[in-house]
Amino acid sequence: MEVKIGFEVHLQLRTERKLYCDCPTNYAEVPPNTNVCPICTGMPGAKPMRPNRAAVEAAVEISLMLGCRVRTGEPLHILRKHYDYPDLPSGYQRTSVPLAVEGVLEGVRIREVHLEEDPGQYDPVSGTVDFNRSGIPLVEIVTEPDLRSPEEARRFLRLLTRVLEYTGRVRPEAGGAMRADVNVSLEGGGRVEVKNINSVKGAYRALKFELQRQAERLRRGQGVSRETRAYLESQMITVPMRAKELEEDYRYIPDPDLPPILLGEELVEEVRRRMVEPPHLRERRLVERYGIPLQAARVITSERELADLFERVAGEVDPLLAADWFRTKLKKVLNYLGLRAGEVGFSAGQLLSLLKMVESGRISREQGELVLRELVRRPEDPERILLRLGLSPLREGELEELVGRVLEENREAVQDYLGGRKEALNFLTGKVVGASGGRADPREVVRILRERLEGLRGRD
Ligand SMILES: [Zn+2]
Repeated sequence: MEVKIGFEVHLQLRTERKLYCDCPTNYAEVPPNTNVCPICTGMPGAKPMRPNRAAVEAAVEISLMLGCRVRTGEPLHILRKHYDYPDLPSGYQRTSVPLAVEGVLEGVRIREVHLEEDPGQYDPVSGTVDFNRSGIPLVEIVTEPDLRSPEEARRFLRLLTRVLEYTGRVRPEAGGAMRADVNVSLEGGGRVEVKNINSVKGAYRALKFELQRQAERLRRGQGVSRETRAYLESQMITVPMRAKELEEDYRYIPDPDLPPILLGEELVEEVRRRMVEPPHLRERRLVERYGIPLQAARVITSERELADLFERVAGEVDPLLAADWFRTKLKKVLNYLGLRAGEVGFSAGQLLSLLKMVESGRISREQGELVLRELVRRPEDPERILLRLGLSPLREGELEELVGRVLEENREAVQDYLGGRKEALNFLTGKVVGASGGRADPREVVRILRERLEGLRGRD
């Protein structure tokens, strides 16, 4: 049975001011109903200001990142969408006609992108409304029903969130503040819309439940009617909301208080020039350019700052070594400390000198990990961190000298090795590591010893 899944995703844009007034947007940090004015509380006679330019540009940038065609040179009306709810005192929400259309993200078609305003927050338990959030700009992204399974849907939402985070244009908690409606249908059944989804995980669970429910009804010959359902996060189920509202129920009309938005080619080109490379394309480029595994590229591009850091060091050391350190060690330390790559205090140069020490064998991988942990915690030159930790790395060439001396002093073990007793290698390795005061990396020692011993065999 064919499955069709499509999304309407809403995310808050990161602007200083609201969309149609000058109220600040830090609604979560201030007492209820303090970031408000007659405009964003819908007082009779209050006229909206022109839409916040920063919000319009953000919506354009997001549209371009999603490969959309921005509708330049035509009047783009802002509509009033009417519905009754306590968080909406004016009785309508302002939403633009599509600013951009016909995009695509990893094979999923993006139908359109709108600019909207957030309503207030109604608390049904206390019956109070907080209007701090009212008027915060939102971007709405509508996809075509191109997804075929909950797993695909989850992967797509993760990627979409990553793309939006890359722009830096959505609020940093975007992943958490995402609100989505999903429409889902099975072949032979009606289209069901599920609302109240607040996370990627929520979307996945709602889809799992809904597909099972629909399949069961179809199997029993009960049919699936077209309807709107709500996802109940606490119970991981969906329940009926109301008969599907038809478009005309919202009584859309152009807002007579606002002139239409006109987007010029110049604005779009300017945004395009400033725009960062989208993560899914960057991932592919890192694989091709540096020859690193896809899995590593995926981790590295999970945050824009992490990918920037990688590209600053990858040209100077072995990219495979760097990719491995990024994917496993650096990411691990950052996760452990609950840090994002954008929050670290060390420089690319400091990380580079650490990786060079590891690459040249001057310090062992284990020592390198200790230094890395310190570098993230208390950024400083890696040479100084070594001193602070009481680790003295080997001098250039010191390891070779030590190996030479140990071979000289343990001729019997050398003969044993050459005579086929491979365990003599362990003995010699132990001697070298001991002579270095524990500073030499045993793996490196084994490599050099083997090379030298095989060289001796050649001369016999
Ligand atoms: Zn206001």
